[in-house]
Amino acid sequence: MDAALLAPAAGLDAFLAEAAALLPPDALLYGDACAPYQADASSCRGQAAAVLLPSDAAAVSALLRAAVRHRARLVPQGNLSGLVGGAVPDGSGRQVALSLARMRRLRAFDPLNRSAVSEAGMPLSELNRQLEPHGLWLPIDVGSDPAVGGLVGANTGGSRLLRHGDVRRNLLGLEVVLADEQGSVLDLTAPLRKNNAGIDLKQLFVGSGGALGVVTAASWDLKRRDASTLTLFAALPGREAALAMLDACEQRFGEMLSAFEVMGAPALAVTLRHFPALRHPLADSPAGCYALVEIASAMPGLDALLREQAESLLAGLHERGLIADAAFARPEALWPLRDSLPLALAAEGLPLSFDVGLPRSRLPAFHAAAERWLTGEHPELRLYDFGHFGDGGCHLIALLPREHAAAYSPAKLAVLKSGLYRLVAEYGGSFSAEHGVGPLNAAFYRKFADAGAQRLAAGLQRLLDPAAALGRHRYD
Ligand SMILES: Cc1cc2nc3c(=O)[nH]c(=O)nc-3n(C[C@H](O)[C@H](O)[C@H](O)COP(=O)(O)OP(=O)(O)OC[C@H]3O[C@@H](n4cnc5c(N)ncnc54)[C@H](O)[C@@H]3O)c2cc1C
Repeated sequence: MDAALLAPAAGLDAFLAEAAALLPPDALLYGDACAPYQADASSCRGQAAAVLLPSDAAAVSALLRAAVRHRARLVPQGNLSGLVGGAVPDGSGRQVALSLARMRRLRAFDPLNRSAVSEAGMPLSELNRQLEPHGLWLPIDVGSDPAVGGLVGANTGGSRLLRHGDVRRNLLGLEVVLADEQGSVLDLTAPLRKNNAGIDLKQLFVGSGGALGVVTAASWDLKRRDASTLTLFAALPGREAALAMLDACEQRFGEMLSAFEVMGAPALAVTLRHFPALRHPLADSPAGCYALVEIASAMPGLDALLREQAESLLAGLHERGLIADAAFARPEALWPLRDSLPLALAAEGLPLSFDVGLPRSRLPAFHAAAERWLTGEHPELRLYDFGHFGDGGCHLIALLPREHAAAYSPAKLAVLKSGLYRLVAEYGGSFSAEHGVGPLNAAFYRKFADAGAQRLAAGLQRLLDPAAALGRHRYD
């Protein structure tokens, strides 16, 4: 480690005094003005010493230089839609929120290269709004509205991951400010699809939760918008049948299969109870679970062909007893059935959410084992599930009835969560499919992530951030 980094730190006050000299007055917030920056979409709450709102990469670099010198800790923030508390300063009142919200320009757009470079604070919705007239989009499809920096920090997935991949797969480059003495700005934004000139460093920062550097801009591999789309809803006897249907859909439609979401019948029942305006598309067909399937292509004029192929596929699946019934409907009629479940469950009791990822071939067996385990160990809880079945993602929600809440101390909840994640590990899965590590998953990271991988991650963080100036979650 550099000797300068071992020198005594002047501390938080000295850092804030320097930050005040670097930023315009309205870009440094204190006290009550920090409130909107102290919580994300999870249950995580914190207290920021201050909030910094830089307007360009040069200001981010100057702030990081000062943070390194004074040993202040900065927590990068996007749009605060994260679900693990990764962008929330801790409760000590000594961490500083670094919001990229004022960096929202589209720096470059090349329609013939199908690429764009956007700054870290630009919301995904705004990026896609600007791309729409050109028939292009960044195909990360989520129920929230993340900022570009948060997309990279969390390696966001979403409902079309099956076809388009996660952020990692749609990223051409990054601009990143490092937590070194110089506040070095790495410009890796060249919008190149082929570039083997050395190690692909940009990928280091993807999904690292702001622990290795501050993303100030990203360069994207844009996709053509869909011009032909078919959406259908199927009632299935169970998840084994869902797996067989998924395989059959891929055989029939190949890479045009764009989403394959599955939700259990109890989950749909709760949703319909709390959202009476929603209509059950297959109310007369009893089912163990339902699949919401989207088939789409950027090629126009395929709607009739997609319908014809889907009808023949569904008839074959029905003959084999794999589906009970199916209905075609407009996307606006089907997606709310899936997206409303978290709100419905929150109205029903206290939801304990598990965002797990498994080899999709093992999803049915895992789900059955999770239900057996929960019924045996915690009979007062009920298990609901919905999620991106097609990519192995599963949002499991164990619902704790309010009358039993007092019996569940934080320690008992931690044991319950560990038990379920142990089962996930037995089935070859991940305790965090989409949402990352952050304070809410830190203990499970220590318990379930490979020990060698943890050592390497810690070493990387010490190398890139020896003064511990960055990130809510530390890998070291
Ligand atoms: C209703 C809802 C639906 C959701 N659906 C999905 C889904 O389908 N798939 C999915 O993957 N996620 C989903 N999420 C989670 C969330 O939207 C994503 O994790 C999102 O990418 C977070 O982006 P953000 O800008 O809000 O980041 P924040 O919450 O602000 O930050 C997320 C992480 O990135 C880091 N970070 C932020 N900006 C930077 C930066 N400039 N440089 C370095 N690090 C940075 C933070 O420190 C933090 O660790 C959902 C959330 C909600 C509320």
